[in-house]
Amino acid sequence: MKIAVIENDKIVVKDTERLTLAGREGAIVKVLGSGLCGSDIVKFREHLSGNGTVLGHEIVAQIIEINSETSFKEGDKIVTSHHIPCGTCNYCKHGNVSMCKHFKSTNIKPGGFSEYVYLSEEHLQNVAHLIPSNLTEIEASFYEPLGCCVRAVKRANLMKDSKVLVVGLGSIGILMSQALKAFGMEVTGCDLLPERINFLNNLGINAFDSRELADNEDFDAVFMTSGADKAIDVALKNIRSGGTILVFSSTPKNTGYGNNEIYYRELTVLGSYSPSPADLKDSLELLRDGKVIVKNMSTVYSLNDIQKAFDDTINNRIMKAYIKIG
Ligand SMILES: [Zn+2]
Ligand SMILES: [Zn+2]
Repeated sequence: MKIAVIENDKIVVKDTERLTLAGREGAIVKVLGSGLCGSDIVKFREHLSGNGTVLGHEIVAQIIEINSETSFKEGDKIVTSHHIPCGTCNYCKHGNVSMCKHFKSTNIKPGGFSEYVYLSEEHLQNVAHLIPSNLTEIEASFYEPLGCCVRAVKRANLMKDSKVLVVGLGSIGILMSQALKAFGMEVTGCDLLPERINFLNNLGINAFDSRELADNEDFDAVFMTSGADKAIDVALKNIRSGGTILVFSSTPKNTGYGNNEIYYRELTVLGSYSPSPADLKDSLELLRDGKVIVKNMSTVYSLNDIQKAFDDTINNRIMKAYIKIG
């Protein structure tokens, strides 16, 4: 089977022995395709993952071999995510499921950018779902990234009709804006790129050039989906005192919200990382019910062109890459 691995600052397609279940519990799935996540880009670009790593986790797949207590069967087309919380540790008990050690240690093997993947019984029981019949394969691939956004919206715990600014309208900003709207918020987006501003406007959500915002502390919450250090100023100038800043991306300088600003202005600054099984279930429902529209967001690449998908994403040439595999 073909896999795409990191090899000395490149993504290289290689051949390796095809996976079989070989008596294990779980399933072997044929990967139909996998979204390219911002976190894959960070792991690749910042050398956080070593040679031989197979990235990719936003998979759409078909079961070809299964030994499971679930009702899934051979031929089923599914979405799944990669991490599962234990449910019993201190992190899990406090709702911080994405900090759970078990959560971090679980994964799909070898990774999403592969022709075949092994899913454990735990994956099948907790985070795998049949693809709703009204969704295309590419639409379904937003199951995991939208799940991350759903988690962020829930963690911010805002009152209905809160005024929320989303800073950064890449694919995550577009998903986040729609998730916030689906949860009853009054959403405004901002970015520097006209095509991204237009994209959100075309979905019926107001969006502006970040430089045109009035800086008048107008927003109850600011969601930071931009990876730029400068976006932090945009957040601090636009959040009302007492408001919530939701941090949803890493920034190069790793600096930000000052102690005194947080204190004198009673700001809440909180992070949100990776989704729980419940967040993921909500995500699939939002996609199925058409409350989040993901048409025209993805650019499709073959597995052989995966390096180009990484390059185009890094250079902001596209909004979201989908690697079509099977
Ligand atoms: Zn992802
Ligand atoms: Zn746990």
